[in-house]
Amino acid sequence: MSLLRIFCVANQKGGVGKTTTTVNLAAGLAQLGRRVLVVDLDPQGNATMGSGIDKRALALSIYDVLLEEATVAEARQRSPKGGYDVLGANRELAGAEVELVELERREKRLKAALAGVADEYDFVLIDCPPALSLLTLNGLCAAHGVIVPMQCEYFALEGLSDLVNTIKQVHGNLNPELQIIGLLRVMFDARITLQQQVSEQLKAHFGEKVFDTVIPRNVRLAEAPSYGQPGVTFDPSSKGAQAFVEFAREVVKRLG
Ligand code: ADP
Ligand code: MG
Repeated sequence: MSLLRIFCVANQKGGVGKTTTTVNLAAGLAQLGRRVLVVDLDPQGNATMGSGIDKRALALSIYDVLLEEATVAEARQRSPKGGYDVLGANRELAGAEVELVELERREKRLKAALAGVADEYDFVLIDCPPALSLLTLNGLCAAHGVIVPMQCEYFALEGLSDLVNTIKQVHGNLNPELQIIGLLRVMFDARITLQQQVSEQLKAHFGEKVFDTVIPRNVRLAEAPSYGQPGVTFDPSSKGAQAFVEFAREVVKRLG
């Protein structure tokens, strides 16, 4: 029996730390000896580039997999420094959104494709685009759970309600396994009173669903993608890298 866990990293807002969370959690889990596949489901291809794979040079990508012209095993590549595999994306993926609408099982394509490599991984982490689109729906249909990175800003809670409603709908109609694994506070600056207040509100509202680990704002995490690797491997001694390794431990521990 496979113990594979498939998680979407999702938040319909852009720039909230989805990709940073995906690649660093992947690298953290890899350091703990877990076998990890990152699926880049964003046409921007940031998780691909941030894992050290040139999105412009992909022979096969998630696009070919969603259109059933390639398998995951054919299209994946190894992140040179990250210690995990990547199913890469580039701008071509934006077209899939339109092409998929016409096709059968359009929201279940990723789920079907991942079944082919289920024995080879302990974790699949899906980096979602900043929209509740058909691509994100493919992620949510394939996943056991959702990890939601968020900044502790004034409108953060308000923005969450759309995502929470979408997750409820997918849970009810398409994927009864789907649940929120947890909310991850990212780019956190404890010196800012507002962030502490929003953090307390989050805990009051979501309780146990808020991860204990907090990811601080840390420039090394922002610099790492331009070196083609996650912060966790780029500068292991940095506060950001240490926080993500701690987060990987928490994820493993929560799953028991
Ligand atoms: P998303 O995938 O949600 O659009 P990203 O992960 O790309 O968000 O993050 C947006 C920007 O913020 C990027 O430039 C990234 O390097 C930076 N960033 C993300 N997390 C942190 C952090 N903890 N500290 C500093 N910069 C961060
Ligand atoms: Mg992103």
